[in-house]
Amino acid sequence: MSVATATAVRTAAATEEPPCAPLPVLGRDVAVPLVTGGSVTYAALDYAASAPALQRVWDDVAAYAPYYGSVHRGAGHLSQLSTELFENARRTVAAFLDCRPDDQLVFTRSTTDSLNLLAAALPAGCEVYVFETEHHAALLPWQSARLTVLDAPRSPRQAVETLERALAGRDPHGPALVCVTGASNVTGELWPVRELAAAAHAHGARIVLDAAQLAPHHPVSVRDLDVDWVAFSGHKLYAPFGSGVLAGRADWLRAAEPYLAGGGASRRVTRDTDGTVAVEWHDSAARHEAGSPNVIGAYSIASACTALTEAGFASLVAREQRLIARVRAGLAEVPQVTVLSLFGDDAPRVGVVSFVVEGWNSSHFAAALSAEYGIGVRDGLFCAHPLLRTLLGTAPATEAECGAPQNPLSALRVSFGAGTPDEHIDRFLTAVRELVTHGARWTYETKDGRCVPVQEDGN
Ligand code: PMP
Repeated sequence: MSVATATAVRTAAATEEPPCAPLPVLGRDVAVPLVTGGSVTYAALDYAASAPALQRVWDDVAAYAPYYGSVHRGAGHLSQLSTELFENARRTVAAFLDCRPDDQLVFTRSTTDSLNLLAAALPAGCEVYVFETEHHAALLPWQSARLTVLDAPRSPRQAVETLERALAGRDPHGPALVCVTGASNVTGELWPVRELAAAAHAHGARIVLDAAQLAPHHPVSVRDLDVDWVAFSGHKLYAPFGSGVLAGRADWLRAAEPYLAGGGASRRVTRDTDGTVAVEWHDSAARHEAGSPNVIGAYSIASACTALTEAGFASLVAREQRLIARVRAGLAEVPQVTVLSLFGDDAPRVGVVSFVVEGWNSSHFAAALSAEYGIGVRDGLFCAHPLLRTLLGTAPATEAECGAPQNPLSALRVSFGAGTPDEHIDRFLTAVRELVTHGARWTYETKDGRCVPVQEDGN
């Protein structure tokens, strides 16, 4: 995402596009018990971990389910129908990502799986460059490459300059890969992907975009951003059926050994006279999709892509930006709250806001939000330990214990998206204010390293 495109995300809210209503999601009417008595509709504010399924995705999957059949090799009617559906899903998702005509789109299990697949397909001697700010899924798969980890930048411009400095002087003929997130799973801030892609390409490197947090919130164009690959997960894109995507340049994928060896990836297998087995692998995406594919997972992602496109990203973005502004303004009114940010207040961002509350253990605060208000948020380090260490280095001290000592390196994260009603945001802000002002109404204890409400019967 370029700075210019990122700016467009931020300004969409302020311009002519009217925000849409929340999209219907599963679980929107689920009541959860409150420890203080009664129950309340669950407020799912942990979209960055896993978003609820879109009702439309669920309905599409349910409508297809009776026609489910084996994919690729079956001669029967439903097998042929399922094969067509699977391959159509591939085309729909490729169109959603605005892929180039000769790109390959591989269905995987998740973003983690996609990036590990790409790591296994790196050419010999490949250098890899990542910022320390990445989610572990984007930070860790490159351990056997020649890895350079870059310090956290404090602005999008500094990110580009840091990468340029790191790449300067490298042999542009040797293979190299830059891996970068589109939107941080901690701060929600957008990264200058197009500029980073230009810097990578200027130095003979390729770039893979971790769009796990970007794709659910904003259209991603492989061509416009000029990234070589993009990876994302269905379960963050309202399609929690166990599939993910890696899409992009075919050459490295074709040249690599199959990610998994097995049926589906192989075109021809023979037994040689010396008794060994010889195999010819497919050159297509099937090379890395050995085994029976997750048809429903792939179809559900395609359904979500269609649903988001039809709802219109401009109005979805406008609505989300309004919610972000509300959350940030509400938290800014609470002096004990520090919102975590790398790029500052004006940085364009998606609906992911992390913060610490002075004097509170994050696990204690999250437990009280859940038990007393029916709100689900995330606490911890969000699988981005180096980034959290950098961000929390300057944060105020948190509560030392909730029945037992806690790890002071911990934050809270509230995240939301296309299905979030205003009421969830209002309830969250009210809860933060009440907890900070009056404290928790219940008693909590630490069990297995987490704060949990003390049960009334003492068990
Ligand atoms: N990258 C980012 C930015 C993420 O937020 C996540 C999930 N939190 C991942 C990668 C990994 O996604 P998954 O767990 O679906 O593989």
